[in-house]
Amino acid sequence: MTVKREYNHKDWENYRRKRVGRIKQFIVVIVCLLLVVPTVCCAMMTLKVHRLEKQVRSLIEIHDEEYQKYLKGKKEEGAAFNEPSSIIYAAEVEKEQEEPESEPVMAEAADLTPEELLEQNTEKKKVYLTFDDGPSQYSNELLNVLKKYNVKATFFVIGKTDKESLKIYKRIVEEGHTLAMHSYTHKYDVIYKSLDNFKKDIEKLSNLLYEATGVRPKYYRFPGGSSNQVSKVSVKKCISYLKEKGITYFDWNAVNGDATGKKYTAKQMVANVMEGVSKNNNSMVLMHDTVSKDTTVKSLPSLIKKLKKEGYVLLPITDYTKPVQHVKAESVK
Ligand SMILES: [Zn+2]
Repeated sequence: MTVKREYNHKDWENYRRKRVGRIKQFIVVIVCLLLVVPTVCCAMMTLKVHRLEKQVRSLIEIHDEEYQKYLKGKKEEGAAFNEPSSIIYAAEVEKEQEEPESEPVMAEAADLTPEELLEQNTEKKKVYLTFDDGPSQYSNELLNVLKKYNVKATFFVIGKTDKESLKIYKRIVEEGHTLAMHSYTHKYDVIYKSLDNFKKDIEKLSNLLYEATGVRPKYYRFPGGSSNQVSKVSVKKCISYLKEKGITYFDWNAVNGDATGKKYTAKQMVANVMEGVSKNNNSMVLMHDTVSKDTTVKSLPSLIKKLKKEGYVLLPITDYTKPVQHVKAESVK
């Protein structure tokens, strides 16, 4: 009897200890959860706030002139410029008119880049600097200049798989420029031999850029332009294919002359562009990022300074960019 009682007593002790142990574990898990969940939430919110602050800062920077005028205009009745917040929301005005109390307006506007917001809201003449044929040994220099002057541009690149080129594709995207396609091989006799070749070339480049950057390119520039006379395939068939794939193509209406065979000086190149952009409200400037185009790099700082000084807004190509097309996409079914 005594043995049995002792045995029961030990059993009870073990059971009690286990139970206390489980309760302790449970309390520890709950305390951990109570600590971890709010910490993670806080970290996420901080990141989000940081991102939004960055967007607002660059927006104000880009809008500097408008912002100064706004501050000035605020003092006078009937200010000519909108409040910065109105600038942010103006992109959604049309939508708001349809749904006056639509709440997601703020979230959607916050998803747009400062350049997209500016593109839709500026009344100034727009200039899109575009560089074809890269990456090259000059790509990093071009990117350094653009960074220095806080300008975003568009690179219509070709297919290259060496380490340095892959890094350049990435840098273009990371620094907020538009990475666009200009064919994988740039060999007219290959790309334009058949529609099938044209398609394969684009697919190959699209996949390469996607793998290198994680971003699927949406814009294209025909080697030689959409009005080229060398294609054996009807350009209209190529355009149909691009439309089917949701790819927009862009030609140009201003050049710096770096592909003309003439040896222009940096100063002459700037003058060529200034003449071109003076004729359009939306200027697509054709320049090149290739081994022989060192003067283009040299001319870039003064070109940017001059364009800014004369009141042009410099932008990268986005979904809101009005295409400049030699053969209009609307002319093709
Ligand atoms: Zn080219």
